[in-house]
Amino acid sequence: MDLIAALAAFKTTFDLVKVAADARDELLIADAKANFTAKYVEVLTASLQAIEANRTLSQENAALADRVRELEHQLRQRESFESEIAGYERYTTVRGGVCYREKTAAGTTRQPVYLCANCIAAGKKTFLQPENRGWWLVCREHGQIPSDMPESSDDFEVRTEYDPYEPRGFR
Ligand SMILES: [Zn+2]
Repeated sequence: MDLIAALAAFKTTFDLVKVAADARDELLIADAKANFTAKYVEVLTASLQAIEANRTLSQENAALADRVRELEHQLRQRESFESEIAGYERYTTVRGGVCYREKTAAGTTRQPVYLCANCIAAGKKTFLQPENRGWWLVCREHGQIPSDMPESSDDFEVRTEYDPYEPRGFR
């Protein structure tokens, strides 16, 4: 029984006690007193249940508030990351390496900055560094990708160092 129903029943019992008292009927008074006590216990029980339910709701409410704060934090981080990489776009290098390239460098003589596509997929921003005279672009975590240096490069020495069957991971 919920608290409101228990209180309504209690009020009815209380009225019956008054009626019995006014009638001065001993049997009716004794019966009303017993009934009054039983209803009083019901009200107490319902009150305790309401307090417990309220405590549970408060705990659930606090847990939900924590979750909302956590999600807001994640959203802010995500927005911050999105704005950090907004100046880059996905790009496939001349020799087929997938990375992110600085947008503003296109059409200029400036050397573009490259980011690791695997790191971006994992929510991290990592600058790719040139290796082997620019033949590779390297992420310390994800290894090498082929750079924009074309196969027809005149730098023969660099080309002869290339072994297509060599492990590509970072050594
Ligand atoms: Zn990476």
